Amino acid sequence: MKTYPAEPYRIKVVEMPNILTREERAEAIKAAGYNTFQLKSEDCYIDLLTDSGTNAMSDRQWAGLMIGDEAYAGSRNWAHLEATVKEYYGFKHVVPTHQGRGAENILSRIMITPGTYIPGNMYFTTTRFHQEANGATFRDVIIDEAHDPEVDLPFKGNVCLDKLQALITEVGADKIPYVCLAVTVNMAGGQPVSMANMRDVKNLCVKYGIPIYSDCTRCVENAYFIKTREEGYADKTIREILLEMFSYTDGATMSGKKDGLVNIGGFLATNDDELFTRARELVVVYEGMPSYGGMTGRDMEAFAIGIKESCRYEYIRHRVEQVAYLGDKLIAAGVPVVKPIGGHGVFLDARAFLSHLSQEQLPAQSLAAHLFIESGVRAMERGMVSAGRNKETGENHKPKLETVRLTIPRRVYTYAHMDVVAEGIIKLYGEREKIPGLKFVYEPPMLRFFNARFEVV
Ligand SMILES: *Cc1c(COP(=O)(O)O)cnc(C)c1O
Repeated sequence: MKTYPAEPYRIKVVEMPNILTREERAEAIKAAGYNTFQLKSEDCYIDLLTDSGTNAMSDRQWAGLMIGDEAYAGSRNWAHLEATVKEYYGFKHVVPTHQGRGAENILSRIMITPGTYIPGNMYFTTTRFHQEANGATFRDVIIDEAHDPEVDLPFKGNVCLDKLQALITEVGADKIPYVCLAVTVNMAGGQPVSMANMRDVKNLCVKYGIPIYSDCTRCVENAYFIKTREEGYADKTIREILLEMFSYTDGATMSGKKDGLVNIGGFLATNDDELFTRARELVVVYEGMPSYGGMTGRDMEAFAIGIKESCRYEYIRHRVEQVAYLGDKLIAAGVPVVKPIGGHGVFLDARAFLSHLSQEQLPAQSLAAHLFIESGVRAMERGMVSAGRNKETGENHKPKLETVRLTIPRRVYTYAHMDVVAEGIIKLYGEREKIPGLKFVYEPPMLRFFNARFEVV
């Protein structure tokens, strides 16, 4: 039987959410227009809406807040953060930003000119937004299998080299400012990229003089998958693996809200002296001085400490295996989920779960709402509601993957909480025919999933 590592932490401070009755939860979700984004956080017993900025900090990080140096320039906490990124990730230069998208903005403004193409292993919302806002066209070069929830591969986030080569041949290397390489791939369900694939991408790009910038937001989770799944890495430390991964890139954008183990923060890193100079010029305009970039001194201290803690094997092992524990329980009960289980969450396949509903009846939205009623667990719809409408035709986009995302915050919940989540879902699965569809009663024109309201059909 597979075993799972116990929590590698002790609990020093606790947060006490409201524990509502079933009737109260039914009232709360109705008042929220059946949209989990509209619920109050304190009413959610287990909040799996996102793992972004929802991490629990360690006592050392909290202590670090007290030595925040809030000087406008030259903060010692910046010196600590900069040195930590260089030491753990191996980049030559670092520019701080308020969060990941701040780094994406700066990189895109410097590197992208209109009419160019950015190949990437599946898109991410904010990353693609900045690439396109600067005039580039995004091209997905992830392997085909990444789009199929049933295909179980160890490195489902890999770049398809033939697709990348075909794009270079089609548009020419001079029309490709950089390759955007995400590790892991969030939108594919937290799927990792292998070291061999990163090396192959590097070899191809070197041939054409194309730089590689990594979206390294979840790089520690990726390093854990390399250690446990790829031959030759079992005896390497997480830090050694990270350093090798980044040796195949020219720089990276990072959201500290994920693998940085903090609530806010980010950076842009690069080995390119000229890009560094330009990024320091731009960061003053959009984020703040190059010695804080929108973060407070105390944030930077906690971030530096978080980067070090994230590389401890017992931490990352528990993090990824805790997610797998939830996924494995659901798979064992026959609940349809995206396979394999990724690094940061479990994605329910809502179309298979609620097969009596059509996609127009918004199965993922309804499943997320009923999961809250059943067990007080807040999840997120990632299906037709999130995908929005086609700008030209006004028709709904109909994504192949209609999912409910259960994202696990880092160091926040225990295995007993995962049991509550699994039991609620398994019970709902047994009564799935009773779950009704939903329809819009208010549909915002942009990013509709945040504020939309629904009622039962
Ligand atoms: C969260 C995230 C971002 C954006 O980072 P923010 O800190 O939210 O701005 C970019 N890429 C990936 C893969 C992410 O998960």
